[in-house]
Amino acid sequence: MIRVENLHRHFGGFHAVDGASLSIRQGTVTGLIGPNGAGKSTLFNVIAGRLPPTSGRVFMGEEEITGLAPHELFHKGVLRTFQIAHEFGSMTVRENLMMVPARQHGEKLWNAIFSRAQIREEEERLRAKADEVLEFLTISHIADHKASQISGGQKKLVELGRTMMVDAKIVFLDEVGAGVNRTLLNTIGDAILRLNRERGYTFCVIEHDMEFIGRICDPVIVMAEGKVLAEGSAAEVRANERVIEAYLGR
Ligand code: ADP
Ligand code: MG
Repeated sequence: MIRVENLHRHFGGFHAVDGASLSIRQGTVTGLIGPNGAGKSTLFNVIAGRLPPTSGRVFMGEEEITGLAPHELFHKGVLRTFQIAHEFGSMTVRENLMMVPARQHGEKLWNAIFSRAQIREEEERLRAKADEVLEFLTISHIADHKASQISGGQKKLVELGRTMMVDAKIVFLDEVGAGVNRTLLNTIGDAILRLNRERGYTFCVIEHDMEFIGRICDPVIVMAEGKVLAEGSAAEVRANERVIEAYLGR
């Protein structure tokens, strides 16, 4: 589904991504692991259009998507989750979901094209969709809570929920488990697996928690020093000498 060919992203003289090549197969939940500073987030940012690459190419199927802007990728179903921005904290969880499709079209255009009745109808549709998403994620009870007041783990679920408001094909998740308790981490893992199995989402997941990676990801790709070091099942990469060395810092 996604193919990255010899990707480089340099910051000054520093090679954060240094010739990474990898594929994410359609229908998988692919894990991306590696020591801190390996270049995982930078790789995500280049694939998702947040950073231009220094060189190298990214393909979605046969189509080259290198350097496309986030909104262009969004329309192709390539999504990267983001923390709920500070300014949306005073909105409710439901409202945070409802605004995802509207924001992509631009609020002004939206208002200019549609009549009040059409806008109200669209709002009703989005509200119903948001409630369905919250139910899927088992967090209906926080629909009316202000986004700034929910827990870190609940925020992660809402971020995942935002991808469900549109037609995502592949979702990139950067450190879903950071600061999340075990129970919520399991809920997030379950949601990812259900989205994968029931809705056909492909995922690429960066995460440090190996128990979580082992439970939901196959295959697992290991990065170190800007390059891909190994790929295999969670058990295979864990047993790989070069991977162990990379984690121990040689
Ligand atoms: P990971 O997500 O694997 O921990 P990152 O992709 O965040 O690694 O970072 C890889 C390296 O690139 C790190 O050493 C980091 O300090 C550096 N880096 C990341 N972003 C920037 C930037 N915008 N400017 C300079 N250096 C950066
Ligand atoms: Mg990172």
